[in-house]
Amino acid sequence: MSAMTAEKLLRANLWEFGVRFRPPERVRNYMPSFVVASCKVAGCVDGCAESHCPWHGPKRKSTPTLWKKLNDRDAKLRKAGWTVVRIWQHEIENTPRMAAGRIAMIVRTVKEMLERAKKKT
Ligand SMILES: [Zn+2]
Repeated sequence: MSAMTAEKLLRANLWEFGVRFRPPERVRNYMPSFVVASCKVAGCVDGCAESHCPWHGPKRKSTPTLWKKLNDRDAKLRKAGWTVVRIWQHEIENTPRMAAGRIAMIVRTVKEMLERAKKKT
């Protein structure tokens, strides 16, 4: 399964969990796999080969640099008020329902936090 196929499988499962999201669109120079704009959640599927997963990715000296780059990108998004969810391609392949369920729970939690914050003001 390719990272793209895993992404599609995740989106289908998220839909079943009631998570409504926008098709991929740019968030500050970055193209997430899906975006729940109403609560600023950006999800990214990390391809095992592309993002050098520790189990299936290539063993390269450049891996720590790549991971640092990805973490820096996430930090920038978080600073801008986004919740960033990263998920490995193999998590989706192995347990698609669990992968989608984890994200659905994060989206629900962020929504609840936003609603609670709104009530306070
Ligand atoms: Zn992997």
